[in-house]
Amino acid sequence: MKAGFPCARCGRPLRRRPATSSRPRRFGCPRCGFLIYDYPRPCAGLLVVRGDAVLLLRRAHPPRVGRLDVPGGFVESGESLEAAARRELREETGLTLGPIEPLSFHWDEYALKGFGRFPTMNWYWVGEWRRGEPVAADDAASAEWVPMTRLAALRRRFSWAHMPALFAALRRWRTAGVRGGSARRRDRPAGDPVTRPARSAGARAHRRAAARSRDRARSASVRKA
Ligand SMILES: [Zn+2]
Repeated sequence: MKAGFPCARCGRPLRRRPATSSRPRRFGCPRCGFLIYDYPRPCAGLLVVRGDAVLLLRRAHPPRVGRLDVPGGFVESGESLEAAARRELREETGLTLGPIEPLSFHWDEYALKGFGRFPTMNWYWVGEWRRGEPVAADDAASAEWVPMTRLAALRRRFSWAHMPALFAALRRWRTAGVRGGSARRRDRPAGDPVTRPARSAGARAHRRAAARSRDRARSASVRKA
């Protein structure tokens, strides 16, 4: 199958060569033998949660103009995945978030006119909205808060095949947050002692030491009585 773009050495159209058990997908030149691998491209996205809603965009540019998408895009050279996710959110909506958590990973593919399809690796983060209204820009035609209960009904308007799996991961994240207590309750201010995570070994040791000193104080007061 012709790849739709010419050999970098001799100009003859390259051919796609499917993966075999020993080699990944490649492009090969039928004339001079030039070979390049068809490696996947990394992408990063960020789900912004506000109450019971999540921030979705409508795509302004091909591919999939007008379809629903999540803030995100291709990772640039030298950039961390998390920095890419935050940059895309900022470029497409103007929003910035505080702490964010890794959410999920999904394979997908992207079709580029004149090039064809290539595999994408999609890493997602999730974070709570803090302040500001999203203003669509760059690749986004509009930005809207969509109630999570409506996501299933919007499935046919999604831009990418992996989005149902992504929103399933979001539901699991949310359920775990509600069950695990309060880390994600929006009705408590940030920094409230109840919401502060105390998972580190240092914090556990500190709690044990505090409990021992309470026990000592209690037994001392018993002896005094
Ligand atoms: Zn060639």
